[in-house]
Amino acid sequence: LSEKKKDMGTPAAVRRARDVAKWDREADVVVVGLGGAGSCAAIEAAAAGAEVLVLERAWKGGGTSAMASGQLYMGGGTPLQKQCGFEDTPDEMFKYLVASCGPGADEDKIRFYCDRSVEHYHWLDALGVPFKPTYMHYLDGTDPRTDDGLSYTGSELAHPFSEIAVPAPRGHTVQQEGSNAGLLLMEKLLEAVEKAGAEVVVDALCETLVQDDDRRVVGVVAAIGGEEVLVRARRGVVLTAGGFIHNKDMVRRYAPMLRKCRFRLGCDGDDGRGIRMGQGAGGDAIRMDAATVVVPFSPPRQLICGLLVNPTGQRFVNEDVYQSLIGEICLMKQDGEVYLIVDDEIFVRPEVPHEIAAAGDTIEELERELGFPEGNLQHTVATYNRGAEKGEDPVFHKASDWIKPLTHPPYAAFDLTAPKSLYSTFTLGGLHTRPTGEVIDPDGQPIPGLYAAGRNTSGMPAQGYNSGLSLSDATFFGRHAGISAAAASGDVD
Ligand SMILES: Cc1cc2nc3c(=O)[nH]c(=O)nc-3n(C[C@H](O)[C@H](O)[C@H](O)COP(=O)(O)OP(=O)(O)OC[C@H]3O[C@@H](n4cnc5c(N)ncnc54)[C@H](O)[C@@H]3O)c2cc1C
Repeated sequence: LSEKKKDMGTPAAVRRARDVAKWDREADVVVVGLGGAGSCAAIEAAAAGAEVLVLERAWKGGGTSAMASGQLYMGGGTPLQKQCGFEDTPDEMFKYLVASCGPGADEDKIRFYCDRSVEHYHWLDALGVPFKPTYMHYLDGTDPRTDDGLSYTGSELAHPFSEIAVPAPRGHTVQQEGSNAGLLLMEKLLEAVEKAGAEVVVDALCETLVQDDDRRVVGVVAAIGGEEVLVRARRGVVLTAGGFIHNKDMVRRYAPMLRKCRFRLGCDGDDGRGIRMGQGAGGDAIRMDAATVVVPFSPPRQLICGLLVNPTGQRFVNEDVYQSLIGEICLMKQDGEVYLIVDDEIFVRPEVPHEIAAAGDTIEELERELGFPEGNLQHTVATYNRGAEKGEDPVFHKASDWIKPLTHPPYAAFDLTAPKSLYSTFTLGGLHTRPTGEVIDPDGQPIPGLYAAGRNTSGMPAQGYNSGLSLSDATFFGRHAGISAAAASGDVD
């Protein structure tokens, strides 16, 4: 088969160590991919005294992390939370994350992270990653384009989560105006990689792991400048090569619903190679259908006062849960068939444009124009309005900030259906790892010499993504994968 016709969704076969006549390069720890997870793995492995070699396929490090908005989900009482006047504890953060990232969230990882989130904040701070001690009020938004440091980037204030855990804002955005503070985060991390003494080789595409007869991963085959180079890893290989949203075969095989999303978020490197390499060495890949899905119907925030309905004219969620939870529900549970109903008082053009599917002077007219079953939308709006007159939403429990009866004609329906609306997505499934980074097989046994972090792995959420969880997960668990690899007894000659 030509390369084009190969199924790129299957595990990548390993090369046997006994077939390697001579290594071209070697290091204690070899890190594959220099984004958020890889840089943190390299920094910590080098700090622990390991000789570290980083192989990055692009012309420089950064990856998707450098494209990001720069929000990290941290809490449990960080200095920024305290400076902004919020109390938080690791236990409340744990309760919230287990509830919002499940069912099936990785409780071991969440516990490990919540207990060390404040320490992670200090670690980033010590590397010069800036966070401004100002809070963006939740009524104003979740995604600061200002240089504000703290905001809500999840569903903490929404039902049912506000009843499960004491809400606190945990979105920590790197201080930079605009929407690309991830670039500054990566600049600081890349500076730290250099200072730590890790060697970085760019234009180094890794595709194959080298494994010995005891299953130990002992190296990597890379194409460096187009030439095959065999790199020995004396203690371990850390896979930090990103997600798989740009691998069509993997998306078709594992997460076919994502094909409905128009925007696939991530750098070219998000082609799943790292995951396939780990699978080839015996690593388990889990929650491969998990993804962040965003349907950006707000800002402006007042649109949260509208009603999300499906083509039967029925509501299915409280509209104030976080936009990525709404996105998941719209795509996975409503098949991407969703409309936002507003009246004239709420009406405003969303920042991300959405077409108007229908308009009418009455809800009945709107319902007819949308082609919904007769009476359903009228019943939905009438029921909602009855509660809203009293500031309540007895059916879905939207918070009172966002409740307003829809009584001012004309009425409109924004088209949030998947093909027409800007659903954006990146994958969350990947290699199964312990919180300390060891890649494990389907029996839960570690593959000796193999570690992973970031979107090469399944992180804390099984679903229910909160913004900031990917960068925090990548940087935090990247650190621990680096620490574990550096501490490994390694490949003994
Ligand atoms: C526009 C946008 C905004 C976002 N905003 C946020 C946000 O604010 N907060 C948040 O938490 N998440 C955000 N995300 C998601 C987040 O940025 C990523 O999920 C996260 O950065 C992944 O980190 P990583 O280290 O796993 O991968 P990456 O940062 O992508 O690093 C992987 C690196 O590996 C390299 N690589 C890939 N394959 C190979 C190979 N075979 N050999 C060698 N090198 C390889 C890549 O070139 C890349 O440099 C955003 C994403 C986008 C696109």
